[in-house]
Amino acid sequence: MGVSCGSNFRDTWDRTSDRCSRFFPCFSDPARRSALTLKLALVVLHLVLAGVIFLFDNDLIVKTKQEPWYTAIYVVLFVATLIQYFVTSGTSPGYVFDVQRAIDERDAAARRASFASIQPASSKNDSVSITVDARNYNRGNATAWTKLVMDLYPPGTSARNLTCPYCHFIQPPRSKHCHDCDKCVLQFDHHCVWLGTCIGQGNHCRFWWYICEETALCLWTSILYIGYLKSNISKAWWADIIMILLLATLSISLIFLLLLLLFHSYLIMTNQTTYELVRRRRIVYMRGIPERVYPFHKGVCRNLYLFCFGRSSIYRMEALPTAEELEEKSRPYTCCDILSCRCC
Ligand SMILES: [Zn+2]
Ligand SMILES: [Zn+2]
Repeated sequence: MGVSCGSNFRDTWDRTSDRCSRFFPCFSDPARRSALTLKLALVVLHLVLAGVIFLFDNDLIVKTKQEPWYTAIYVVLFVATLIQYFVTSGTSPGYVFDVQRAIDERDAAARRASFASIQPASSKNDSVSITVDARNYNRGNATAWTKLVMDLYPPGTSARNLTCPYCHFIQPPRSKHCHDCDKCVLQFDHHCVWLGTCIGQGNHCRFWWYICEETALCLWTSILYIGYLKSNISKAWWADIIMILLLATLSISLIFLLLLLLFHSYLIMTNQTTYELVRRRRIVYMRGIPERVYPFHKGVCRNLYLFCFGRSSIYRMEALPTAEELEEKSRPYTCCDILSCRCC
């Protein structure tokens, strides 16, 4: 009886999930299902934390009627934070596969165009035709991607050591294979479980803005909670307990967000990634570089400019610094350097 009841329930569940998958194809993949559940949980959490204060705090409702702009700005920040979350989550971090394919396609198109322009001449002279074919054959041995990437490494570097064992692509400097996304990511920072995507060159700027907006929202909501708890209006004891518990959650989140914001601001100003900072000794291209020397640091202003506006070109890949450049970067700062603004 129990077994048949259990199998009936399983059949009903299977049929329901089949029907769901047919109407909503995104629910058929377990990974996408868990990502969507996480996003839904995040929206619900935001609605609860912001909604409770409007539910309990009558003073805030009165204030909203008197000064609607105050609540309007808060609602704008709330909506902007959620939009920023979804936009960041949906932005590609810059997968090496996409960039490699785009570069090889661009190179193939350029070769076809140059071949077409030379073709009429080749019909008049056979030797030109042979020359063109030979050149194309030689270029075909190594793809445009391989040549482009190998130029970013010091001469003599073996391509074998740079090939990703999972994607089988030659990785440019600063890229890494993400085991969660199962792809190589350009300028890999970390895989964010909260956003369900990697943070890399393509979405690091949006990620910073998301943390910034989330921090501001968290701070403002905490101020509203403190205002409610300090007010002298008559309140039910259980409402106070709920508000204190939620305020404790908000305070922990705020400390975490502030630290994360400061940490990423420091990384951006020194042109580093979380992965490079944490796994410095394990990264091949970082070995031999003295501590406190940031190999990709180009000065605070230039780093900030590239971080904010360099994303328009997804193909931006940084070459490893030469020995002379590293020596220059490791030179200690003097008073003259500060006066001449060497850091910028
Ligand atoms: Zn890979
Ligand atoms: Zn990832």
